[in-house]
Amino acid sequence: MQTKAYAAQSSSTPLALTTIERREPGAKDVAIEILYCGVCHSDLHTARGEWAGVRFPSVPGHEIIGRVTSVGGDVSKFKAGDIVGVGCMVGSCRECSSCNHDLEQYCRGPNGFQGTYNGWAHSSDENTYGGYSAAIVVDEHFVLQIRHQESDLAAAAPLLCAGITTWSPLRHWNAGPGKKVGVVGIGGLGHMGVKLARALGAHVVAFTTSPDKREAALALGAHEVVVSKNAQEMAAHTDSFDLILDTVAASHNLDAFTSLLKLDGTLTLVGVPETPHPSPSVGGIIFGRKSIAGSLIGGIAETQEMLDFCAEHGIVSDVEMIKMQDIDNAYDRMLKSDVKYRFVIDMATL
Ligand code: NAP
Ligand code: ZN
Ligand code: ZN
Repeated sequence: MQTKAYAAQSSSTPLALTTIERREPGAKDVAIEILYCGVCHSDLHTARGEWAGVRFPSVPGHEIIGRVTSVGGDVSKFKAGDIVGVGCMVGSCRECSSCNHDLEQYCRGPNGFQGTYNGWAHSSDENTYGGYSAAIVVDEHFVLQIRHQESDLAAAAPLLCAGITTWSPLRHWNAGPGKKVGVVGIGGLGHMGVKLARALGAHVVAFTTSPDKREAALALGAHEVVVSKNAQEMAAHTDSFDLILDTVAASHNLDAFTSLLKLDGTLTLVGVPETPHPSPSVGGIIFGRKSIAGSLIGGIAETQEMLDFCAEHGIVSDVEMIKMQDIDNAYDRMLKSDVKYRFVIDMATL
């Protein structure tokens, strides 16, 4: 099926209108008309070639909300007309120990999980194309049910990456009542981290480099806000956190945050900067039996659990709607931390 899409033809060319080929839906496939697509910093890292291994043309977008247009003969979970979501994955081996434990994102099959964009395909010159497009065809296992009300659909799109990427570590490290949780970087991921940690019952501290985000971070649900460039404000939280979730998309000093962990506390990194962080000093980690950890998106079952939790609690992203044609401007603003707090593309503008 010939499908309209917005693609970067190389790391140095702006995204532009193109036509891509989508497969005809197979027996297990769901064909989806895309209504909204969130703009993740990973889209920018990819389209501008900041990460190794990007294949061009690149069609980013992995925060997809759409309407089912048709389903294959063996599809049981969806029917035409359903509102559905697609996140960062569209495939995995489905038989390794990770896949068997609903951890498709950590698939140990020969190719790992199949990314919604820049993912593996069956021949080396193929690529997967993401949500900056009119339609997509996805195996039903990787399609999510969306239970938010109609008026919230655009704002629900970022849950498919920003939501699950913060939810999964918050759950894994037991964020909840009695726990002090920090969220570093109040961007797309970070603002969802604050909302979700608060909804889970934790005491939430937002860390930002942008003093003008102080009020907004409180409104998002943070109990306290720390401007991380202010050494005094930072020092007041020494030795006190159970968990700090670091969503920053740029290289920075991790010692500033490991020093705020209490005994057995964990600094979990989800941001993937273009260049490495300076090596953390080990002394503070050893003397507090502290951990520095990482976490990758979340599994499909866990994504559905998060979506249902958000629908039930009325949680969505704070979004700014954009036209498809404004994507490069949106990327430039994202680099200046000038997003409140997620751009979402109205795909009707494609
Ligand atoms: P974003 O919307 O651009 O937010 C990043 C935030 O980090 C900014 O808003 C800013 O917040 C802070 N920041 C930016 N530059 C900084 C600097 N030089 N020093 C300190 N803080 C800085 O990005 P996002 O979409 O949330 O994505 C964040 C990162 O997570 C990206 O690297 C992305 O690729 C990665 N990611 C990882 C996963 C995963 O599974 N692990 C999934 C999705 C995305 P303040 O203004 O508050 O300081
Ligand atoms: Zn993402
Ligand atoms: Zn697998």
